[in-house]
Amino acid sequence: MFRFSTIKDYHIALQNGQTTCVEAVRFYVDTIRRDTALNAWLSVYEDEALALAAQLDASRSAGQPLTALHGVIVGLKDVISYKDHPVSAASNILKDFTAIYDATATVRLKEAGAIIIGRQNCDEFAMGSTNEHSAYGPVKNALDTSRVPGGSSGGSAVAVQAGHCMISLGSDTGGSVRQPADFCGIIGLKPTYGRISRYGLIAYASSFDQIGIFGTNIADVALALEVIAGADEFDSTVSTKPVPAYVDEIDNPAVTPKRIAYFKEALEHTGLDPAIRTATEAFIKKLTDQGHTVEPVDFELLEYVVPTYYILTTAEASSNLSRFDGVRFGHRSSLKFEDLNALYKTSRSEGFGKEVKRRIMLGSFVLSAGYFDAYFTKAQQVRSLLHTRTQAIFQQYDAIISPTVPAPAFKIGEMQNDQVAMFLADIYTVFANLVGIPAISVPLFKHPNGMPFGLQIMTSQFDEVSLLRLSKQFMELA
Ligand code: GLN
Repeated sequence: MFRFSTIKDYHIALQNGQTTCVEAVRFYVDTIRRDTALNAWLSVYEDEALALAAQLDASRSAGQPLTALHGVIVGLKDVISYKDHPVSAASNILKDFTAIYDATATVRLKEAGAIIIGRQNCDEFAMGSTNEHSAYGPVKNALDTSRVPGGSSGGSAVAVQAGHCMISLGSDTGGSVRQPADFCGIIGLKPTYGRISRYGLIAYASSFDQIGIFGTNIADVALALEVIAGADEFDSTVSTKPVPAYVDEIDNPAVTPKRIAYFKEALEHTGLDPAIRTATEAFIKKLTDQGHTVEPVDFELLEYVVPTYYILTTAEASSNLSRFDGVRFGHRSSLKFEDLNALYKTSRSEGFGKEVKRRIMLGSFVLSAGYFDAYFTKAQQVRSLLHTRTQAIFQQYDAIISPTVPAPAFKIGEMQNDQVAMFLADIYTVFANLVGIPAISVPLFKHPNGMPFGLQIMTSQFDEVSLLRLSKQFMELA
C-alpha cells in the first residue's frame, strides 16, 4: 500500500523500487474518489497523470536522474492557469473557460517533473474565508465535515489535509493560504510579495496577491518554493533576487537564540478565542525556556489593518474584475440587447456571485470621485505607516509571531449572515500582505473542541530562510 511522508522519502522509495509514480497516481485518484463528498476538487486529470507517471517511471528505469519534483503529485487552486485545462476562479462567469497558457508557477512545476493531478475548489475569485462563496458549492473540513476548511484556498488545504496529493498551490491575498492551513492542521506558506511570479494567476488584488504552498512538512514546502520562486520576464513585480537553496538552508542545524516579537494588542484582543490565547502564551513560555527572547511590542495600528485591507483590495478587485464583461472575457448573457452597457450589466449580474458583487460595489465606491480621498488615499497612507512601523520592528527582532486566526474552524453556515465578523477574523493574516512580508501558519495546537489550529510566524521581506528554519524548529518543539 502506498504511503507518503515526505518528498525525499518518496524519492528514496522510487529509487529503491519500492513504489512507482503510477502507483502513487492510482493511490491519490482513489483517495480523491473516496472523498468526493468533501468537494475539494473541480477536475481530476487521471488519464494524463497516469500517462506522465508511466513516462517518469520509464525514464527512471532507464537510469535518468531524478528532477527536483520527479513524480510529485500536486493540486492547483482554480485560479492558477494550466494550459488547455479549465480555470474558472470558482465563478460562473468563467464557467467552461480553458486556460490558453501556463502560469509561470505551473511551467516550473512541470519542468521539475511534478504531476498535476487536478484543479481545486475555492471561494469565487479568492474572495472569502470559508469556501462557501464558490459557484461549485462549499468544501468541507475533512476532520469535521460540519465545519468549513477556511478560505479562500479551502479545496487546496483539504486536498493536503485528507491526503489527496502531496502538495497544493493556493493563493494568498489576505490569508487565503495561512487561514485554511490553520483550520485544517497543515502548513501554509505565503512568501514575500514578489518572490513567486503572479503570471497566470487570476488577479484579485494585484498588490497583495501571492501564490502560496500547502504541505505537511517544512522540507516539502521549502522544496516547492525553491522550484517555483524567482525572476520572471512576464511579471515585472517579481523580484530578481537570487533564490536561496531553501532545502539545504533549513537542514543547517545552527540553532541560535532569536529575538521574537508579538503584538501586545493581538494577544489582548477581545475577539481572540481564550483557548487559542492560552496555547499561544504557553508556547511563548516554551520559546523563552529554549533561550529565545520573546517580547510584546505595541502595535496600535492593529485595529486599522482590516479596514485598510478591505478598502484597498476591493478597490483593486473592482478594477481587475472589470475585464469580465461578456465581451473581452467571461459569460455573455443570451438575452438580446440594443446597447452595449445593458449587455455588460446583465452578463456581469448573471455571472458573478453575491460576495464578488459586494466587493466590486465596495471597491467602486471607495474609488469614486467624492470618496476617493476619504477612503482610498487614507488607506494608502495607513499602508505606508504600517511599512515604516514594520521596518522598525525588524530592526530589533528576527520574527513576529501571532495566532493565525482568532477562532478555530467555523461551522458551515455560521458566518453567512455576519459578513463583518468574517472580515474581522482576518485580523492577524492581512498584515503580512499589506506590508509584503513572508508569513506561514504551522500546525502546533489542538483546540479543546478537537480542531487543530496554528501559529503564524512572519519575518522580514525575502527572509524565507529564517522563516522556514524557525517553522521547523517550532514544529519539533511543540
Ligand atoms: N479572507 C480574505 C478575503 O476574503 C482573504 C482572501 C485571500 O487571501 N484571497 O479577502
